Amino acid sequence: MATLTDKVAIITGGAGGIGKVTAERFLKEGAKVVIVDLVQDALDTVKSELSSHGEIVAIQADVSNEADVEKYVKATVDQFGKIDIFFNNAGIEGKVAPIMEQEVQDFDKVIAVNVRGVFLGLKHVLKVLVNQGYGSVINTSSIAGLSGSIGVTPYITSKHAVVGLTKAAALEVASKNVRVNSIHPSPVNTRMMRSLETGMQTDQETLAKAIPLGRYAESSDIANLVLFLASDESSFITGVQYRVDGGMGAM
Ligand code: NAD
Repeated sequence: MATLTDKVAIITGGAGGIGKVTAERFLKEGAKVVIVDLVQDALDTVKSELSSHGEIVAIQADVSNEADVEKYVKATVDQFGKIDIFFNNAGIEGKVAPIMEQEVQDFDKVIAVNVRGVFLGLKHVLKVLVNQGYGSVINTSSIAGLSGSIGVTPYITSKHAVVGLTKAAALEVASKNVRVNSIHPSPVNTRMMRSLETGMQTDQETLAKAIPLGRYAESSDIANLVLFLASDESSFITGVQYRVDGGMGAM
């Protein structure tokens, strides 16, 4: 039997790099998947590309907007009757600039998506999971949630906040058999890194030299970890920060 047979999963940022590859992996493992993202066209494209692998639903929503979050949670429960897995993954990178040159509007935008969005997802999905008495949440942080880096202060701040949200939520719902963990990727080969490379005026080859395994992660490397944390194989694991970083944490 596949690892996620009959499970229902919501993936935010599901039209993006990591989200789409994880959606495909979940579908192949037998899950029904709801992808949530900002742009309807992108959602439609991903849905049509992945629909041969299983049942996939696309919902347009802004994760930083509470009414939108309530909408995607309700739509999922109305259609499937439950939520087993919540991959709380949507995020933006913000501007690359020294802290003294960061604009407050840009800072607020990154916090709105990466922190408020994760918080709102937790708030509304956990109500369902606690009521059911089961469920697994995986919040996407970053290695930028565990250490500093120059030029991306809003992003660093937001990804550290995801650690706090993960630990607090994990403790609040553990007694209800609901688990909450966070993942911490090093650079992943997606649109986000192309944007950061441009902002930092560097390239993949140069940045990859700082990674012990000598390369960026592929989205499939991240999906493998998310699958483990989503599955019953990790049933005694909660409140943990998982690096998937090509050895960077050992430096
Ligand atoms: P991506 O840009 O390919 O995907 C992000 C997706 O989130 C996009 O489809 C985007 O439309 C969506 N999104 C953005 N704002 C949204 C909003 N307000 N509401 C709904 N959807 C929204 O990037 P990715 O690399 O797949 O990033 C996924 C997650 O992984 C992010 O949280 C990111 O911070 C994190 N991450 C990425 C890397 C990396 O190097 N790519 C490393 C560590 C962590």
